[in-house]
This record gives sequence, C-alpha cells and structure tokens, in this order.
Amino acid sequence: MAKILIVEDEKAISDLIRFNLELVGHECTQVFDGSAGLQEAVKPKYDLVILDVMLPDHSGFDIIEYLEDVPVIFVTARSQSQDRIKGLRLGADDYITKPFDIIELVERVKAVLRRTRADVKSFEFDGIRVEFDNRRVYKDGQEIFLKPREFDLLQVLINNRNLALSREKLLKLVWEFDYEGDTRTVDVHIQRLRQKLSISDRIKTVYKIGYRFEI
Ligand code: CA
Repeated sequence: MAKILIVEDEKAISDLIRFNLELVGHECTQVFDGSAGLQEAVKPKYDLVILDVMLPDHSGFDIIEYLEDVPVIFVTARSQSQDRIKGLRLGADDYITKPFDIIELVERVKAVLRRTRADVKSFEFDGIRVEFDNRRVYKDGQEIFLKPREFDLLQVLINNRNLALSREKLLKLVWEFDYEGDTRTVDVHIQRLRQKLSISDRIKTVYKIGYRFEI
C-alpha cells in the first residue's frame, strides 16, 4: 500500500518494524547508516520515511533537512522533550521513542499516511486525469464515464501502482469484503478499464497472480 524507507542502525529493531509494516501490506526498504539513509531518502519513490536520530555518519536530524515532500516519523531512544520539539520543528510528522509498542508504530504510520495522502486529489498519466474527490476521469480533456466499481478499481490500482495485486486482493480492496465468488469479476472490470481508457499497456497481467498498474 505504501512504500516505506526504514533508516535504523539497530538491525533487530529495523527488522521488527519491517516485519510488522509488511504484515499490514506496506513495502519496506531498509538502510542501516546515515549516508545510505540520506542517499535513499531523497529518492522520490517513498511515501514515508521512518528515521532513527542516532545513526552512524549522519544523524536523522541532518537527514531530514534534505527531505522535501516525504513525511517522516522519527524513531529514537532520545526521550528528552527538546529533541521531540526539535524533531517536529524540523518538519517531522510524528515522533516515537524507544522502547515503543510496535502496534502503536503501525497505527502512527497509518495516521500519517492518511493525513498526507488526503492532499492527493488527482492523478495524471498519459493524458488521463483522475479526480478522486468528485470521482471523475478525463482523457485529453473529454470525460470518460466509469461505473462506480470501475472507478474504485482504478483508484486501487493507482494507489498500489507498480505492485502486483492478486485477484483476491483486488476483490477485497474494491468490493470491500471477502468475496468468495468468481475472480473473473475482476478480469471483466480490468478489461473494461483497459478499453475505456486505452491503457492496456499500463495494466499488465501478472502471470498466475493478477494485475499490476505500471507507471
Ligand atoms: Ca540508532
């Protein structure tokens, strides 16, 4: 669901964070020192960075100075309130101190993503503009009419772009319940999206799995 970078030099803690975030469907990348953290965190591909403060080479406080759009949650052993204030002043979205409850971390990740993603009101590619708030789609300025489930499916594909999604997962995300029925429902809707928007080359069939929206 989200691509998350974990910058943390204690491998056991990093692995624990990764394990739990992956359980709820996020995709994680781990780096273990400040220079790798800085190099990786400035790449535009992350939705969120979990950033330790005390790191070899560069501190988390140094790294955040270089970040512009990506939300940051500091995770650190430092618990003095001036560090917390400094972290938040530097632009962090949240601050959590070790030892922490992993479920709390997962919840805070969810909360920060909800906040930061609420700003995403539209998505554009190949002359297509998808407006999420009024649920309209335009191609080269002309409105393309999608049925409600077709729009939901498109939104799920965009939110999970470049990830392979199984038919079962798509059923669950789009139809919002554990649909025991036929996964051909998904295939039919995918076909319609491909045709209506002429995006066959964007929605790839993933052999034996499902689909991936490539962008
Ligand atoms: Ca550390």
